[in-house]
Amino acid sequence: MADSQGDPRSDAEKINAFLPKRGAQGPCPACGHNAWTLVGGPGWSVTLPMIDGAGAIPDAPPHIPVYALVCNNCGNLRLHASRVVDAGQGDSP
Ligand SMILES: [Zn+2]
Repeated sequence: MADSQGDPRSDAEKINAFLPKRGAQGPCPACGHNAWTLVGGPGWSVTLPMIDGAGAIPDAPPHIPVYALVCNNCGNLRLHASRVVDAGQGDSP
């Protein structure tokens, strides 16, 4: 995930600050446990590649950057669009 507007906080700090402000924290919908780990780390990010209407995958497909969280109990993945999370960093608590 690219650093947004020079925000010095880590991606984990940003997603951990953002989710409660939007009421988006909570247990895994698959297993009910509430322990998540952010996928990636410094210098790494997760994106979803997009395909065209015919299902073709271009050599350099457009993509959607995301914060990806994995449930530590069952492996369920949840994704939050980086654009929304990064834009919401200035929200009031
Ligand atoms: Zn789970």
